[in-house]
Amino acid sequence: MARAIRGMDDLAVEKISTASRKDPFRVLIATMLSAQTKDAVTHAASTRLFRVARTPRSMAALSAARIERLIYPVSFYRVKAQHVREACRQLVDRYGGRVPDRMEELLTLPGVGRKTANLVLILSHASRDNICVDTHVHRIANRLGWVHTRQPEATEQALYKAVPRRWWARVNLCLVTWGQNVCRPVYPRCAACVVAPLCPRIGVVQQGR
Ligand code: SF4
Repeated sequence: MARAIRGMDDLAVEKISTASRKDPFRVLIATMLSAQTKDAVTHAASTRLFRVARTPRSMAALSAARIERLIYPVSFYRVKAQHVREACRQLVDRYGGRVPDRMEELLTLPGVGRKTANLVLILSHASRDNICVDTHVHRIANRLGWVHTRQPEATEQALYKAVPRRWWARVNLCLVTWGQNVCRPVYPRCAACVVAPLCPRIGVVQQGR
């Protein structure tokens, strides 16, 4: 799977990370915007926002209404605009404008859950001790039978036991790319899947082309 994704389009947050030389602030904000939003929309919205404000200080100085207009049409753009603004204010007030590199501190920021915190730690702080789980990772890890869980939080903990440590930081990139292109939520393309011979296809009722 890791070999097979090489020719596929990079994920929006990965693109932003690469373009910004792993700037933790941009990775943080782009990941906050990405929840339940298509990759192309996340990338375009993040690019518009970073064109106007590149630091926590300058972003905190924007009104929530301005941030809303810049990030529209990401899902829940009103709530996300408030979270982004408040998170930036806290980064300035509590961390001197820097993005913390510890899970407990990241989780205190508004709108930041384990998925976002894990991705910031992996992409920007070079952590190899984290697995970032979103809906794609949760779904595919269960279809493959690596874990048997109902919630992404439980999947993360189960994956630490099921996956060799050297793969932890790459699980997200592999499974999210696979989830967008092959192991889709409905009608997964099992006939085109390189890991099909290894996959029990748990919970898959209908396959696509
Ligand atoms: S065989 Fe089907 S269910 Fe299993 S990982 Fe591949 S696409 Fe997903």
